[in-house]
Amino acid sequence: MAKVSTTVKAKRARTRIGRIRTAIAGIDYLCSGTLLERFTSCGKAGCRCAQDPAARHGPYYDWGHMQDGKLVHRRLTAEQADLLRPAIANYQKVKELLRAWEVETERLIDAEAPHDR
Ligand SMILES: [Zn+2]
Repeated sequence: MAKVSTTVKAKRARTRIGRIRTAIAGIDYLCSGTLLERFTSCGKAGCRCAQDPAARHGPYYDWGHMQDGKLVHRRLTAEQADLLRPAIANYQKVKELLRAWEVETERLIDAEAPHDR
């Protein structure tokens, strides 16, 4: 296999960083945390939810996320939950992109300032 020059390696890394940057720039809604969809029993005697698990109330949407080092829970409407779901997926995506950016940066550092120079 032909040895790829450090210039080419650096160029490739820069191209990949450019793609990562573009991907991040295209992201709008971004939230950390988790979204829980819960069903509950109200505890009233005679309510259908007491007998039938399928008749429990809900779904209720609960967003759990860290705020100032503390886990905070927030009740959301179904409409808010629909907006939050992709925002959480975007957060995971950005985390992956940042990891990839870090890998490419390490390649750049090695290509631009190799040990054996
Ligand atoms: Zn009930």
